[in-house]
Amino acid sequence: MLYDVSMTINNEIQVYKNNPNKKPKFVAVSTFENNQVYETELTLNLHTGTHLDYPLHMVKNGATSDVEELEKLITDVKVFDVSYLTESIDLNTVRKFPIEEGDFILFKTKNSYSETFLDDFTFLGADAAKYLKDKRIKGVGIDGLGIERSQAGHPTHKALLENGIIIIEGLRLKEVKQNTYKMICLPLKIEKVEATPARIILLDK
Ligand SMILES: [Zn+2]
Repeated sequence: MLYDVSMTINNEIQVYKNNPNKKPKFVAVSTFENNQVYETELTLNLHTGTHLDYPLHMVKNGATSDVEELEKLITDVKVFDVSYLTESIDLNTVRKFPIEEGDFILFKTKNSYSETFLDDFTFLGADAAKYLKDKRIKGVGIDGLGIERSQAGHPTHKALLENGIIIIEGLRLKEVKQNTYKMICLPLKIEKVEATPARIILLDK
């Protein structure tokens, strides 16, 4: 079985805090009315839909998409279902899961069940992020457009990004049960940026 866990990019896509400036803009720059071919220009915030964050997003002069190693993104992943949580993914929750060094973890939360932006989206708490950092995981993904929310100083992003842990945001995991899958994550090949949109699929093992 193949699961496409990527958001669809269109005019209606949910964007962070419903900020209209973050909506993608599609413009038909060539049409059959004025030309022989049809072409669309797309203005896209790089944090639109399913995407990866790199250190530069939170750390001045931080590393960019150039650090990307595809071998780390085509990997086994452990999906943990925490869709019963209403606030953050906290330390007590992550402690209960079998997490080992080198794991790539995806959290399925209530966010996967909403196609509109949730002001109270579930996020990864700072203490849980620090625990995952200490476990030396390889990467972590979540189904919200942010991996944290309203945490002064962005401790979750920093605990992960400053330690080379990959962050994926904006996953769609409604159809995916808690289990281990093979992930194929292919970010767009854009140089020297702080985030890249990605198409991501999971395959049954
Ligand atoms: Zn982002």
